[in-house]
Amino acid sequence: MAIQRTYSMIKPDATARNLTGAINAKLEAAGLRIIAQKRLWLSKAQAERFYAVHRERPFFDELTSFMSSGPIVAQVLEGENAIAKNREVMGATNPADAAPGTIRKEFALSIGENSVHGSDGEDTAKEEIAFFFSGLEIVG
Ligand code: GDP
Repeated sequence: MAIQRTYSMIKPDATARNLTGAINAKLEAAGLRIIAQKRLWLSKAQAERFYAVHRERPFFDELTSFMSSGPIVAQVLEGENAIAKNREVMGATNPADAAPGTIRKEFALSIGENSVHGSDGEDTAKEEIAFFFSGLEIVG
């Protein structure tokens, strides 16, 4: 299995409840290395750019308002099969459907305020990492 990099983001509902360390512990326990990390507060316009692919979805305004409502933690994760592994550790979008032990099952509040984001494929991982990090900030 190839070593991959993926973009991960701890969302405002989780930073508000002081869950950054608990979430990072789950990522690291799954074998994912946090090779870049920074805490930021996105503007509404920045959240709209990041989530542009969802622009036509009915929840776009709710999503981008939420994502700009408080601090986020932006991360690059590295490891074997990191994109799928991170999605597995995150759990299903809706915490009601998430498997036991996953981040969303344990911490998410709702389908919208679901604690973490993770890239869903190789192309989006590259784009999302480049949206937040320069090469100098990624230390593998
Ligand atoms: P993900 O890849 O599991 O994060 O899920 P999606 O790509 O389908 O959706 C992106 C994000 O939009 C989710 O993580 C949620 O924060 C949000 N979202 C998805 N569906 C809904 C919804 O029905 N209502 C609201 N408010 N937010 C949603």
